[in-house]
Amino acid sequence: MAERMLQFVRLSQQTPDKRDAAERRTDFGEIYQRFSAERASEQASRCSQCGVPFCSVHCPLNQNIPDWLKLTAEGRLQEAHEVNAATNTFPEICGRVCPQDRLCEGNCVIEKGFESVTIGAVERYINDTAWEMGWVKPPTPSRELAHSVGIIGAGPAGLAAAEQLRKRGWQVTVYDRYDRVGGLMIYGIPNFKLEKEVVLRRAEQFAAGGINFVLNCAIGRDVTLDELRAKHDAVLIATGVYKARDIGGEGADLSGIVPALEYLTASNREGLGDDVPDFASGALNAAGKRVVVIGGGDTAMDCVRTAIRQGAASVTCLYRRDKANMPGSMREVKNAEEEGVTFSWLSAPEGFVGENGAVTGVRAVKMHLGLPDATGRQQVERIAGSEFTEPADLVIKALGFDPEDLPAMFGAPELAVSRWGTVQVDRRSMMTKLPGVFAAGDIVRGASLVVWGIRDGRDAADQIEKYVLAKAVTPALAAE
Ligand code: FAD
Ligand code: SF4
Ligand code: SF4
Repeated sequence: MAERMLQFVRLSQQTPDKRDAAERRTDFGEIYQRFSAERASEQASRCSQCGVPFCSVHCPLNQNIPDWLKLTAEGRLQEAHEVNAATNTFPEICGRVCPQDRLCEGNCVIEKGFESVTIGAVERYINDTAWEMGWVKPPTPSRELAHSVGIIGAGPAGLAAAEQLRKRGWQVTVYDRYDRVGGLMIYGIPNFKLEKEVVLRRAEQFAAGGINFVLNCAIGRDVTLDELRAKHDAVLIATGVYKARDIGGEGADLSGIVPALEYLTASNREGLGDDVPDFASGALNAAGKRVVVIGGGDTAMDCVRTAIRQGAASVTCLYRRDKANMPGSMREVKNAEEEGVTFSWLSAPEGFVGENGAVTGVRAVKMHLGLPDATGRQQVERIAGSEFTEPADLVIKALGFDPEDLPAMFGAPELAVSRWGTVQVDRRSMMTKLPGVFAAGDIVRGASLVVWGIRDGRDAADQIEKYVLAKAVTPALAAE
């Protein structure tokens, strides 16, 4: 039955049910359950159909959110899916992993006085239903074109560009050094936030639509950038950021101190059924161990929660600021607390202690928050005499990521990068300093979000098309 809109005055916000923490700790299944049809329709009907929808303004994809909420409230799910899928390459993934409290939902106008519409959960519901009903189709074009693009990186940015160009009839080849499609969606983000089947089924559809994947192929090692440029009309660099920020200090080379992404990748591979020697040997497995995770971002939260599920004896997160100043999403901190993680706020690591070459503890010191600096952020100051040692058999460093040295990796010194190593592009055309070579996603922005990767990939597809078509008409001009 059709629901009227503006029901926020009558209906309270209901988020999807969360599995009990005691149960969650024992498996890697997603923690949020799906809305029932009735709940999705009810929750969508809370939208007040704003003339200027701030939810859309703050969604990186500027989606027509009020439209698909209304269609959902009216039970017109296939239409809701079509409207939603027109602007989002991975709506069922964004519904799961976007930090909605900072994006669409955090800017929903009924938030003032009432709680926001649960946009992300409705988006997930619409598109999980679409998959079940067979409404999601491969990106098969109505006619084939000769234009060809080579995309480096099968993460959200590369895949979004691939899907858009393939739908328009382009010959699309995506190269990735991993053995699976998905980038950080497959090997970074843990299963309890995004079940891998959700990513793999998309990859299968893309292949069925004629996107050619060349996996286990590292550009710069197996194929050169010049070879790709010669083979395709345009090249898109969507390689993400993978150089882990490190921490020094005495004892930093002890065994048992590992980077976050290695640890998470091993866990994801194990879940996918791969043979993972470092997991089997215990090197990247938290089972039975006292685990300390250093860092306060979302990657740190993913590590602590993975360690809990692997059966760690204890899991402690060391962060040098307080809870209010954590960069990670509060939703994820709450989930981690419920699952039994201990947070040691205002604690900065200074070194490591060990026995027989293996780590046995993290030497840390308590901090206090001082005056704000020029950026407005409070500075942390060490409290003399507050040193302590946190016992640990496994230490996971989750301090963020920087870009690899792409000009060196690609043997292309002309590829201009910023002082942080991100690839520089023309803001409008998204082209790098190399003619016909574009860049998108984390490698341009620095570590960011899946939804921004999708946005950049879709924009890059438009710019690539514009460039190649212009070149076909006026070769001399386009080459300038
Ligand atoms: P990536 O996803 O990193 O994909 C890049 C691809 O390029 C990879 O597959 C890589 O193998 C390939 N590649 C790199 N170099 C080469 C080469 N030389 N040759 C061939 N292939 C190459 N975002 C959210 O929105 N929500 C979350 O909950 C969230 N959780 C996260 C958890 C973790 C642990 C991490 C690390 C990140 C998380 N993110 C999250 C961020 C998000 O995953 C990234 O912002 C997003 O995946 C970036 O997309 P991308 O396409 O630019 O790069
Ligand atoms: Fe919100 Fe992300 Fe969906 Fe945009 S893509 S509506 S930000 S959940
Ligand atoms: Fe609906 Fe909130 Fe968006 Fe307004 S801001 S259109 S109430 S979801």
